[in-house]
Amino acid sequence: MTGAGQGPSAASPDALPFDPIGDALGRIRTEFLDDHRGEVADYIPQLGEADPAAFGLALVGVAGSVYRVGEADVPFTIQSISKPFVYALALADAGIDDVLGRVGVEPSGEAFNAISLEPGTGRPSNPMINAGAILTTSLVRGTGPDERFERIRDLLSRCAGRVLEVDDAVFRSEHETGDRNRALAYLMRHAGSLTADVEAAVDTYFRQCSVLVTAVDLATMAATLANGGVNPRTGEEVLGQSAAEQVLTVMATCGMYDYSGEWLFRVGLPAKSGVSGGVVAVSPSQFGIGLYSPRLDGRGNSVRGVAASEAISERFTLHLMHQVGRTAPTFERVAPDVGLVVAADDQGTSVSVGDAPRNADVAVLAVQGYLEFASAEQALLALRTRTDDTDSPEALILDLGHVTRCHPVAAALLDAMIEQIESRGVTVVTVDRRERRLLASSAEFTTRSEALARCRGGWRER
Ligand code: GLU
Repeated sequence: MTGAGQGPSAASPDALPFDPIGDALGRIRTEFLDDHRGEVADYIPQLGEADPAAFGLALVGVAGSVYRVGEADVPFTIQSISKPFVYALALADAGIDDVLGRVGVEPSGEAFNAISLEPGTGRPSNPMINAGAILTTSLVRGTGPDERFERIRDLLSRCAGRVLEVDDAVFRSEHETGDRNRALAYLMRHAGSLTADVEAAVDTYFRQCSVLVTAVDLATMAATLANGGVNPRTGEEVLGQSAAEQVLTVMATCGMYDYSGEWLFRVGLPAKSGVSGGVVAVSPSQFGIGLYSPRLDGRGNSVRGVAASEAISERFTLHLMHQVGRTAPTFERVAPDVGLVVAADDQGTSVSVGDAPRNADVAVLAVQGYLEFASAEQALLALRTRTDDTDSPEALILDLGHVTRCHPVAAALLDAMIEQIESRGVTVVTVDRRERRLLASSAEFTTRSEALARCRGGWRER
């Protein structure tokens, strides 16, 4: 069923004979296909025309692969799923303090269209309810509603990796029937939180809700958030990393209407749903999911979208609070008797690995993988153990060649430790064949032999 009849993208594994991820999604789709509970939204006629049987699932990984099953290429209006992305744009345009001063980040626990404004300030609880979203939209830069909307459409398109169009009939209907949203805007304007013109603010908001997307688009947009704001299919940096984190945080606490708490409890992923039956969910650093199934439960969430998300989270063990454990050892061992210590010799350059004597003069510590707080903490312990004892080498070579990424926190901790070790008279140098200068505190060499030569020079001088 994977990708049957669909045009797979260049990066899609759809065409491959074996696709365990697509197959797993297909099984989940089959499992919930016969769940016919819920009602298709019909507050405007266009939404009521949606095919209640449609059920599409898509997953886009941070490496850009696309997996899709069922009606994953059927267009529908994005509706409330536009809210987190427009929030990111408002944060970029107005700055976090200005935005937080006008829209909160507290879950309201109320329905999406509730009149939930802070007494006194008129500040809506969060940007995922309609009041907060209308206010957020008004904070997007632009000389008028048209320019403001074009900037929103451009952002949504860049997150999706293709130019998104507006469903004009849906827009007109939203505009004609949107008096409750207008009322919310007037209340905010009266309270002083909304300073923009009411008609202009709701016009842009109705337009953004009417942008057409597919489940694959939603999954790509979600993957852009998962990937720190970089669209993994186009490689474009669409959002800043901190904006992506801030948006994901609000999605985690407020994204699923008044089901947000139980959603986080059960599914454990930042998400957003919309009244036309779409759901996006994000597994940070891993992938984005887009789902489409138009029948909604009493809270306005897609029945099959919620059920399938729960199954995906459980089967792929995605809950944010899940303890993953360490995935790879950070170190080659440093003890001389296991052979990763470089022995001093009189030849000047040869490196002896595997048969070093216990009283080796130079120790090599090779670090690998992603160096963040926890792995840096292991590195600090190993460095301390290796240089604290009476067998401390005279020089230490820290090989960073297999470090895939070094978080600034890890670099700062290691730099501080190296300074302490050097203050005790031990020379520390780093090796990185890619010459990335990951640490500031020590001399860097491209090979262990060069580093060794430098270390030896150091002792002879002493
Ligand atoms: N256009 C809809 C409204 O503001 C969006 C609602 C939704 O998706 O939650 O009423």
